[in-house]
Amino acid sequence: MTYPTAPPTSQGDERTPGGAILMDGNRLRDEIVSELATTIVAAGSPSVCLATVLVGDDAPSQRYVRNKHLQAAKAGMVSRNEVLPADAGQTRVEQIVSALAADPNVHGILVQSPLPAGYDEEAVLRLIPAVKDVDGLTSESMGRLVRGLPGLVGCTPLGVMRLLERHAVPTRGRRAVVIGRSMLVGLPLSLLLARKGVDATVTIAHSRSVDLVDLCRDADIVVGAVGQPGLITAAHVKPGAAVVDVGISRTEAGIVGDVDFDAVQAVAGHITPMPGGTGPMTIACLLENTLTAARLQGVLPA
Ligand code: NAP
Repeated sequence: MTYPTAPPTSQGDERTPGGAILMDGNRLRDEIVSELATTIVAAGSPSVCLATVLVGDDAPSQRYVRNKHLQAAKAGMVSRNEVLPADAGQTRVEQIVSALAADPNVHGILVQSPLPAGYDEEAVLRLIPAVKDVDGLTSESMGRLVRGLPGLVGCTPLGVMRLLERHAVPTRGRRAVVIGRSMLVGLPLSLLLARKGVDATVTIAHSRSVDLVDLCRDADIVVGAVGQPGLITAAHVKPGAAVVDVGISRTEAGIVGDVDFDAVQAVAGHITPMPGGTGPMTIACLLENTLTAARLQGVLPA
């Protein structure tokens, strides 16, 4: 990346040409992965195992899973990848997930989404015990989040929270707008921002929301979790606001986010790059969740 030109902050964070602090997900992922490795070594290097289940040959899914295993190794974890052809069938996928659920040597299970057409994803998720649900997607994990109980939280929303925390972006009493209300990103992130202790006042926007500019321009934190290139423009952003880009769209120009980065960086106080922002943090938080899962299963001290 070549765009940061302004002097870095006292914490060494890069700034964009417009002066916004760049919330660098690659850098924070590396810090988190290194901390996880240190924690595992300090606990006597127990075997902490993440298992992924990949069905079909979707190229981005294959790439995501490869990256997860690469980073797991850097964190000092063991990982297992169950790869099945697209036509393996519901029964076979359920058998594999049930076996992983019953295996005491496996601490975290991630079924790479989306499964090919025709699979019942909910039925597969139901087989993952809450203590191994490192993706935080099962009904029990989501229910615990809603009820404010301890549990495993979705990796992408958790990654956004880690970026805000790392850069000391204030949340208490601040206004946040989360654009997108999916179970994967928007909804859990809204709950995390509104949680006691985080204390943001959260607006959830979606495809039926009217006048997005109006909704966003008073916000201190704006998160795009839509998948529509350039949806968030400078007009949406209050000067000094923190802007987080979760959306991923593959275009001829490469991967682009929901945020018009060049225009918004001139107005925002903090901004994530795309790529290099929320994506790497999703993987970091998957591994953080795997360590939490191992603790819940007594592999490391709580
Ligand atoms: P999703 O299930 O398709 O949800 C998209 C959300 O955006 C929906 O709530 C939808 O509203 C809303 N939306 C669509 N058009 C809109 C518009 N014009 N204005 C306002 N809201 C609009 O997608 P998802 O799984 O949440 O993922 C969202 C994006 O994040 C995708 O691009 C995905 O690839 C990306 N992603 C990135 C990461 C990462 O690590 N960075 C991880 C996961 C996903 P309705 O509910 O009304 O349909």
